[in-house]
Amino acid sequence: MGLFKKKNITTLEMEKLIEKQKDSEQKGRLFLLTIQALLFFLKEFSLDLKEIDSDRFKKEVDLLNEIFLSDKKVKKIDSLFEKQKINILQYIKTHKKYILDREFELKDIIELLTKAIATIDVENRNFNQSVYKQSKKIEKITLLDDIKKIKIALKQEIEQMNKTVLQKELHDKNQLERLSSKVSSLEVALKKAKKESLTDGLTGIYNRKAFDEYLKNLVEQNAVFRSPFSMLMLDIDDFKKINDTYGHQIGDRIILAMVQKCKQFIRKVDYFSRYGGEEFVIILKGASLRNGLKKARQICKSIAQAQYSIDNAHDIARQGGTELSFTVSIGVSAYQKGDTEATVTERADKALYLAKRGGKNAVASI
Ligand code: GH3
Ligand code: MG
Ligand code: MG
Repeated sequence: MGLFKKKNITTLEMEKLIEKQKDSEQKGRLFLLTIQALLFFLKEFSLDLKEIDSDRFKKEVDLLNEIFLSDKKVKKIDSLFEKQKINILQYIKTHKKYILDREFELKDIIELLTKAIATIDVENRNFNQSVYKQSKKIEKITLLDDIKKIKIALKQEIEQMNKTVLQKELHDKNQLERLSSKVSSLEVALKKAKKESLTDGLTGIYNRKAFDEYLKNLVEQNAVFRSPFSMLMLDIDDFKKINDTYGHQIGDRIILAMVQKCKQFIRKVDYFSRYGGEEFVIILKGASLRNGLKKARQICKSIAQAQYSIDNAHDIARQGGTELSFTVSIGVSAYQKGDTEATVTERADKALYLAKRGGKNAVASI
């Protein structure tokens, strides 16, 4: 018996061998298909992120796929795969870390947002409450693990929060509009009240309070700028008698008629006020005593010449009917150096007294 005996392979064994080879070929193809599918998924599920160089990673996966499909020897494929395997694992690690980092950042943002909302300083209680509720909801979102769920929940809450803020803005806007219209009407009322406090109710010209203020300012200004002015103090003659004869209503109409007459003689720059009762003061800006006297005589004459109908108390200025006339006396003074409000007024008053004493319907100065 020889040491080596040639082994005869039977047909059956041969068939078995062929079968085995076919099977492993099929397994090889299946294995390749599986690898291809895995590489495809690896590529598809990788996020496109510049920061972690996803493009390079995808190219490497493609390269690996090509290596598997190539005719290269298994040994060669094995060594190339070993090299790429390290790169791929490294990339997956970076990828995972990147997502985790983003997740933490997102949680940080939510926390910041929650704190910011909680500290918004608003006086509106309802708004405060709804913002507080929303901040609580956002706090819960941080407990979610899935980044996608966090994103969806956060989006919903931010939309709701925007709505709340918009509602608050609208509410504030309306309130502001209401307040500003209230302020405007108060301003108008204040202006009106101020005007009324300086105006005489019957005649509509300035009252004593306004006159005192005006004269004070004028005398103060004059101490610096030295612009002359004259003062006309008018008093209706025997007014008591008019009241007694025709009644107070006619008396009022006489006062109004006198005011209208005086207005015809004075300029816009002049100052006309009711000093009290049936006494009036006119300040003629820039007028000397001479000019003041001239104007006073014109007024005095014009009033004395006018005739008023008293048939209808509401139509006192109409000519005709039962006629009534009246006169005024006027005392004139002019500003002198060193004058005070009191001294210049006192001279006009004394002059008025002189005009009355001289027989009324007259003009005088001292
Ligand atoms: P004299 O010529 O000296 O000035 O005499 P008089 O009668 O005009 O002066 P007196 O001071 O004696 O009377 C003024 C009157 O004017 C008394 C007052 O009742 C009246 N009077 C004051 N204010 C008004 C007013 O607004 N309307 C009416 N109808 N009368 C008024
Ligand atoms: Mg009088
Ligand atoms: Mg008087």
